[in-house]
Amino acid sequence: MTDIKDIFGSFVFDDETMKAKLPDGIYRTLKEAIDERKGIDSSIADTVAEAMKNWAIEKGATHYTHWFQPMTDITAEKHDSFISATKDGKAILEFSGKELIKGEPDASSFPSGGLRATFEARGYTAWDPSSYAFVKDGTLCIPTAFCSYGGEALDQKTPLLRSMDAINRQALRIVKLFGMNDVKRVNTMVGAEQEYFLVDKELFDKRPDLVFCGRTLIGAKPPKGQEMDDHYFGVIKPRVADFMRDLDKKLWELGVMAKTEHNEAAPAQYELAPVFSNTNIAADHNQLTMEIMKKTAEEHGLVCILHEKPFDGVNGSGKHNNWSLCTDTGINLLKPGKNASSNTLFLLTLSAVIKAVDEHQDLLRISVASAGNDLRLGAAEAPPAIISIYLGDELDSLLDSTIKGERHNDVNKTNMTVGTDIIPAIRKDNTDRNRTSPFAFTGNKFEFRMLGSAASISDANIMINTVVADALKEFADRLEQSADFERDVKALIRETVTKHKRIIFNGDGYSEDWKTEAKKRGLLNLQNTAEALPYLTKRENIELFERHGVLGETELRCREEIRLENYCKAVNVEANTLLQMINREVIPAISTYISFLCDCINKKRAIDKEIDCTVETELAKELSGENTRLFELSDTLKAAVTLAAKTADIKEAARNYHDKVLSVMQEIRSIADSAESRTKREAWPYPTYDKLLFKI
Ligand code: ADP
Ligand code: MG
Repeated sequence: MTDIKDIFGSFVFDDETMKAKLPDGIYRTLKEAIDERKGIDSSIADTVAEAMKNWAIEKGATHYTHWFQPMTDITAEKHDSFISATKDGKAILEFSGKELIKGEPDASSFPSGGLRATFEARGYTAWDPSSYAFVKDGTLCIPTAFCSYGGEALDQKTPLLRSMDAINRQALRIVKLFGMNDVKRVNTMVGAEQEYFLVDKELFDKRPDLVFCGRTLIGAKPPKGQEMDDHYFGVIKPRVADFMRDLDKKLWELGVMAKTEHNEAAPAQYELAPVFSNTNIAADHNQLTMEIMKKTAEEHGLVCILHEKPFDGVNGSGKHNNWSLCTDTGINLLKPGKNASSNTLFLLTLSAVIKAVDEHQDLLRISVASAGNDLRLGAAEAPPAIISIYLGDELDSLLDSTIKGERHNDVNKTNMTVGTDIIPAIRKDNTDRNRTSPFAFTGNKFEFRMLGSAASISDANIMINTVVADALKEFADRLEQSADFERDVKALIRETVTKHKRIIFNGDGYSEDWKTEAKKRGLLNLQNTAEALPYLTKRENIELFERHGVLGETELRCREEIRLENYCKAVNVEANTLLQMINREVIPAISTYISFLCDCINKKRAIDKEIDCTVETELAKELSGENTRLFELSDTLKAAVTLAAKTADIKEAARNYHDKVLSVMQEIRSIADSAESRTKREAWPYPTYDKLLFKI
């Protein structure tokens, strides 16, 4: 047995290691710079770099890389070795402060949405000392931000850090109003639960749709799906348990606090939850988690699928972004405490979130929009595309009393007995869970459940931080002028909750009734990425991001373009993959099977001219009809893709991909799936759903 204490963070240049490896004075300067978020003094950079290099070499590293997060949802690295030549031609290992602080990757192939003009193809990476460096696969990885020559953000980390600063600025004003003068910083904390699928690698490799698109484009449903609910929290199979053990160990070495691992609702679906940390670290760690999951799976002959909807008819995968606001003195502003009704700071913070979510439904929706997540949201298994907040009965009645100006009796945790003396009474949580809500209050944090499983969590957190910062700003602007704080803060809470009550919904988010009701309440229902993304650059949204210094207009326009481009590219690859599968393998397979049926008929008739050949004849005719339809539809699809691909305006192109391409793909799928379910198993060219989902 390995001791977690020994391996946890053993490959991280963390605080403890820094303290041990750096001269005392340098360590203190660095620590102060990190804690107080001041820039690193370049005079200490050389010493830090030298210590980092020596430590990394002890850990087996030969190379270093600036590790960054371009707008692709995956991380990028460019490895350089530590090796340098001395004047007399000998090799030495070197790593300077300059190399630690700044990098210039040739970044012309990363998405920039036109931010990096072609004459200035360079991008710059800059060290983020608030996220520890680590050694992964023999390389010292230095977390960095990635920006253009003009300093515009080309990545996820830069705006995330800016949004954390923005919410800190406003939250500090609020806590000061409550007399908490010892607070130096208010941090957003995040725990991101990650869902994923595991399938056998050999089977995976036989399916071009999985290989190229990460999801199946065709595939008939198996006789058994998830209806028996026997997978969720079920016993973990040995092969998967081995994988999880291995994964945990690797993540722990990298300082990722992987805590819970369990089966999810769909067969072959699993979840990993880390212990929460500040958002910047949580985002870095979630990227690392996804990467290590994929790598570890391969080592176990498995493939880890992070796509939001790999299989039709079974649940897709998401990420739950648990979010709270905590002071550096350890106070969680979203913790109601024993007497929620008299916890004014809690109620004010809660009102800020309610206001922010109601006023900026569009931004939250955009933050989770992608081709993959479109297939999941609103599909009666994941939150709907309509944003609403779940508070639970207790808080709801508290807010109700607030609106009416009545006194509220706080109900605290009650005890629950199980009906046998051997099991002691357990405390019942009064924030019951509502799995259908996109934005749910869960005791002392909000859980944003709409994120796609493959996406970086940065976008969602940039939005949450910015919109809540804006609400807090409005509150602070008003309350700082107040002559009677007690009275005015209560009035403000009451006014805010009354005004934004429509966003609160405690019922079933999957129901059709909710869609009708939400429409009546005037809530947005942005169905897909093509529809949602153009809201990003609405005038008031540009002003919002500029007001808080999170993103400028140019950056926002570029981001909108990149996200739409990513959407178009994803659907384009899917359509082309489907065309190839249908034309090269599905149509020929069906033909071969029809010819087999015809052979059967001939052979049977050779024995007896009058023999009954109804089955073979009818089947051959039906399959022939379907094959013809597939052939015709593949032409329609080809035309639709060509049209979408040459649409110059990116917003219109995205709409074309959605309206014209995806709909034909859906039609092709239903015919192919029908043909699959009546074709002899061995004649079908791809591993079927039952094998993929139940074989490990
Ligand atoms: P679930 O039942 O949804 O799995 P848990 O209580 O186990 O809920 O928590 C899920 C995630 O929320 C974990 O990653 C956990 O670390 C995180 N979490 C817990 N408290 C907070 C908090 N105050 N702020 C942010 N995340 C939190
Ligand atoms: Mg959860």
